[in-house]
Amino acid sequence: MNWADTPEQAAFREEVRAFVRDRFPRAYAPDPEAEQSLEPEDVWGYNWPVDRLCDDPARRDGARAWAAALAGRGWIAPHWPAEYGGAGLSVLEEFILQEEMMRARVPTVNGIGAFLLGPTLLEHGTDEQRAAHLPPIARGEVTWAQGFSEPGAGSDLASLRTRAVREGDEATGTYTVDGQKVWTSLGQYADWLFVLVRTDPGASPPHRGITFLLVDAASPGVTIRPITDLRGAAPFCEIFFEGVRVPAANRVGEENRGWYVAMTALSFERAGIGATVKYEQALSELVGYLRSDEGRGFLRDDTRAALRQEIARRHTEIRVQYNLARYTVSRQAAGAVPGYEASVNQLFGAELHQRLASTGASAFGRNAQLWQRRDAPLGAVFTHMSRDSVASTFLGGAAEIQRDVIATRGLNLPRSR
Ligand SMILES: Cc1cc2nc3c(=O)[nH]c(=O)nc-3n(C[C@H](O)[C@H](O)[C@H](O)COP(=O)(O)OP(=O)(O)OC[C@H]3O[C@@H](n4cnc5c(N)ncnc54)[C@H](O)[C@@H]3O)c2cc1C
Repeated sequence: MNWADTPEQAAFREEVRAFVRDRFPRAYAPDPEAEQSLEPEDVWGYNWPVDRLCDDPARRDGARAWAAALAGRGWIAPHWPAEYGGAGLSVLEEFILQEEMMRARVPTVNGIGAFLLGPTLLEHGTDEQRAAHLPPIARGEVTWAQGFSEPGAGSDLASLRTRAVREGDEATGTYTVDGQKVWTSLGQYADWLFVLVRTDPGASPPHRGITFLLVDAASPGVTIRPITDLRGAAPFCEIFFEGVRVPAANRVGEENRGWYVAMTALSFERAGIGATVKYEQALSELVGYLRSDEGRGFLRDDTRAALRQEIARRHTEIRVQYNLARYTVSRQAAGAVPGYEASVNQLFGAELHQRLASTGASAFGRNAQLWQRRDAPLGAVFTHMSRDSVASTFLGGAAEIQRDVIATRGLNLPRSR
């Protein structure tokens, strides 16, 4: 496969590099000790919604200035049409934009709104919903969170129980919402939530009784409690709804057809180029360190050969991951909707994240236990990655579910009964 840029793509890549060099606010340094991201770096822009509201004026102003710079080019939501604040980029241009931002180690902005909700509203929303909600996302002024999972509904999402009862007619009525969501990434920093609710408790199959609603997070009856993870960070939360009133005008798609709207949102998970670049950077830092005078001290004669083999394997796997990402994007560019290929990509990337963390940690022996970045070799990047990557095989759909999709939809193996 030849992934070389065309002359137009090479020119666009240069344009992105120059933009980042000239416009990224120098004062906007992420705080490594206040890391929210679950990726080796901030691929999905986990830190930005936190930075934009934080007390440190340098970080807060930096986050806002960076959002304003990106918004000026339509690059917060690069793939949206210009009329809603996007840049109308092709999937390949968007891939290059993300790749270059990751290579330059600058955060992406407003990922959940721009990459999950935006395309969903473009496909299923009304003109009013698009006009009201898309431009503020593209300007980086309003952030969103995704409220799908519940304590009893993760892999089996269709069994969700958060209830919404409508009074009045389908167009002008109001829903009253009661129930609980969990693991809502960045929900405590979000202005708005897109949630799945049950509107028909007797529906069979159950996914036919689900509706997709847009909920103002400041509505009376919404209670948000951050959840602290094993790293001591709180990248997600649980959300309680008690008698929350939501206008029917905030329903996306038809009542009881929200499952199909949600599937659109989930299909917009990106090709994973950001994570690949970050894995590449982490591995090359490890190699550079182990070749340095300081790093050589960690190499033991009895483990050196095994470590070398392991690093070579990770290098090869990162190349495979890059090719998978390019393949997915080239399929999208040709008009195909990634099906089981997205599961191959997601599963391989998630398990690679865990293997890479373990390779890096094993290089440092007992020192891999050091959590404080300033005391540890390589700023404890692999120690943190070991904790961060635990969630990788869950957060975008559990590994077993991805394998099921590959087996049944990719390989046409029979479903078990
Ligand atoms: C960091 C993080 C961020 C998240 N962010 C969000 C968010 O923003 N919004 C949101 O809505 N959700 C979010 N989630 C939730 C995520 O979507 C769920 O964790 C995921 O869908 C798995 O569901 P579960 O946790 O309930 O596990 P379960 O579905 O209970 O699975 C538990 C175990 O059982 C296995 N299992 C389940 N069903 C099967 C089966 N049919 N066959 C074989 N094995 C099976 C699973 O593979 C897994 O090992 C997030 C999760 C994490 C970890």
